[in-house]
Formats: sequence, structure tokens, C-alpha cells
Amino acid sequence: MQFKLSEEHEMLRKMVRDFAEDVIAPTAAERDEEASFERSHFDKMAELGLTGVPWPEEYGGAGMDYLAYCIVVEELSRVDASAGVTISAHTSLAGWPVYKFGTEEQKQKYLRPMAEGKKIGAYGLTEPASGSDAGGMKTTATLKDDHYVLNGSKIFITNGGVADIYIVFALTDINDRRSTTAFIVESDFEGFSVGKKENKLGIRSSPTTELIFENCIVPKENILGEVGEGFKIAMKTLDGGRNGIAAQAVGIAQGALDAAVGYASERVQFGKPIAENQGVGFKLADMATGIEASRLLTYQAAWLESEGLPYGKASAMAKLLAGDTAMSVTTEAVQIFGGYGYTKDYPVERYMRDAKITQIYEGTQEIQRMVISRMLIK
Ligand SMILES: Cc1cc2nc3c(=O)[nH]c(=O)nc-3n(C[C@H](O)[C@H](O)[C@H](O)COP(=O)(O)OP(=O)(O)OC[C@H]3O[C@@H](n4cnc5c(N)ncnc54)[C@H](O)[C@@H]3O)c2cc1C
Repeated sequence: MQFKLSEEHEMLRKMVRDFAEDVIAPTAAERDEEASFERSHFDKMAELGLTGVPWPEEYGGAGMDYLAYCIVVEELSRVDASAGVTISAHTSLAGWPVYKFGTEEQKQKYLRPMAEGKKIGAYGLTEPASGSDAGGMKTTATLKDDHYVLNGSKIFITNGGVADIYIVFALTDINDRRSTTAFIVESDFEGFSVGKKENKLGIRSSPTTELIFENCIVPKENILGEVGEGFKIAMKTLDGGRNGIAAQAVGIAQGALDAAVGYASERVQFGKPIAENQGVGFKLADMATGIEASRLLTYQAAWLESEGLPYGKASAMAKLLAGDTAMSVTTEAVQIFGGYGYTKDYPVERYMRDAKITQIYEGTQEIQRMVISRMLIK
């Protein structure tokens, strides 16, 4: 076993940390308040090669591994979880299925511009009546001559409205769940529109919207994989996506811990820094331990995927532990900041609000437990 990051990974971490602190962090609180997405940040990430980290160079990517991708999401999320999920949804939810299931032509047409950061990707699975039970979708795709006609809606879609390319799942037979099929939908396709933008508790500068399909025309060649293969594609995509969310959770927790350590070392009460009280010091120790365990699981899952080994259980475990750790660490960070932690003068309240989503999306914590327990029983 080897727990040391390569020189390449270390250099990447430093580069992303510097970028995140210099470019992303200064406006994170303001963008959170205004719930505004900053396209220029995405463009800068593209310049740095962060928009297609794990994809081969022949598709415009950086040719690195999934561990490198997790490091990028972690470091962005350490200062701004919204920036982290923008890249995570773009890469592992939109890019991955095209990389794994797309034809060569689809990879050149869609994966390349996403990897190069010229286009933003999104993934549309969830619907008003089907969340955890994703197979219960109602969106339909009807074959008509050389195209499919999509009707229905998706909700809670990350990068909604700012994305150019959407991976969308629909039924070719409304009465048969097994007919779920994946489609690549461009934002300017006839009949496609973006609906309500959610006003959220956290990750507020990551837009989350509804997608509407009203007789949306999708060419036949935009089917991803085979007709009826959509559910498998959706689930396999989430297996890897969860690891990105685990990395996001690790980053959020690390950001909160760093802030708490700094504050606890400086804040003086009863004539000494509060960190010198065992009650505060033990909190910091528990926070750091939980983060390290979460990071190890996350990196292990990323390593398994890079090695071509089964990683579904590992990524579900990573997301489960890291999500719960992010929630508890950020809550303790607010506690350590006391009253100041409850104000917007410090970033820990934002970290706490942002952390909650890591227990909900890409499968709630309950769904991760179902995934893990099913694999144990199998
Ligand atoms: C900010 C944000 C961004 C998102 N981004 C995307 C995206 O980009 N693409 C996309 O497709 N979706 C996205 N989602 C949707 C997200 O994945 C779903 O919200 C999530 O999977 C839960 O579905 P639901 O909200 O319908 O909750 P439900 O499925 O209705 O669940 C409600 C509660 O019941 C529990 N529950 C449900 N079934 C069981 C069970 N069998 N056993 C035990 N407990 C159960 C759940 O764990 C949860 O606590 C996003 C959501 C949000 C809030």
C-alpha cells in the first residue's frame, strides 16, 4: 500500500488551492448571498485544464485519473462548495456517461467541448414524482421518423440554465420502466426550456433548475448507449458521481476545520485561547479524524475507479461517511465560532448550509445505505 500522493497530484492540489483562494474565495460570500453563478470562474477553470481532468487528451481532457479529479473538487469546495459541484456535475454526471457509453462521434461532438470547458454539462434524472425511486420517471420519448419527441420535466438540475449539454433520461414506452433511455440534449434544441430556478439553503451560487420538454426534438443519433439501456447508464453514472460528492464533502469539512482551528487559536476567553480548553481541542481532534477517514475512503474509491476495479460500494461508503462528516464538522465549526459563527461575517455558517446537500443529492444517505447493504447481501 502506498498512501503518498504523486508529485503530479501534489502540484495539481497546490495549483487548484492557489486558484481557489485567489479567484473563487474573494466573492464566495457575495455570490452565496445573491445566488449568482459566475461563468468567468468556469472559463478560468477551463484555462487551467480543470474542466476535463480525467478524460484522455484525445477528447480535450487533461489525461489524469479520478483521484486528480477528486482533488480538484475537494480544493474548490474547500473555499466554495458551489464551484465544487459545478465541476462535479459537469465532469462526472455529464462527461462520464458520454465517455463511457458515447460513440466516437458523440465523444468528439460533446465530450471534447465539455472537457475543453467551451460547453457546460448537466444531468437530468430527477422528476417531481421520482427522486430516490428514479425508475418512476414520467418523461417520454416517442420515435417519429429520424428523431425522438421528448415530453415531460426534470427538477433540481445542477447547472440548469447555464449548461449547454444535458444528459436526459426518458421512457420510450410509458408503461415499461425497462424502456428508460439516455439522450444528449443541446440547450438550443426545439422544445427544450429551463423552468423554475430553486431558491436554496446552500450551494446557492450553483444554479438548480427545472428542465421542460415540450415536444422537444432530439435526433436519433443523440441516443446515448442503446434504447432501454438508460437506467443502467443513470445508475452507473451516479456510482462515480458519488465520489465527486464525497470529495466535495471532504473539501467543505476541511474548509470549516481550517477556519475553526484559526479562530480557536486566536479567540481569547478566560485569559487564554479557547483552543486550549480540552472541550474545544477535543472537538478539533474529532473533526480532523473524521475528515481524514472520509478523505481516505474517497481517494480509495477514486483509485479503484482509475484501476478499473469495482468501485460502486466504495464510492457509496465514501459519500455516506464524508457527507455525515461534513455536516457534523461544519456544525461544530459554527459552535466553536460561538455567536460570530452564526453571522455572515465568517464563512462557517455558509459551510454548514452547504454541507447539508451532500447528504441529499446523488442518492440520499438512506439510499447509500441501501446500495451498500444490497452489495453486502449479494
Ligand atoms: C441542490 C440539488 C441539486 C440536485 N442536482 C441534481 C442533478 O443535477 N440531477 C438530478 O437528476 N437530480 C439532482 N438533484 C436531485 C436529488 O438527487 C434528489 O433530490 C435526491 O435523490 C432525493 O430525491 P427526492 O428529493 O425526490 O426525495 P425522496 O426520494 O422523495 O426522499 C425523501 C426522503 O425519503 C427517504 N427515502 C426515500 N426512499 C427511501 C427508502 N426506500 N428507504 C429509506 N428512506 C427512503 C429519502 O432518503 C429522503 O430522506 C438535486 C437536488 C438538489 C436539492
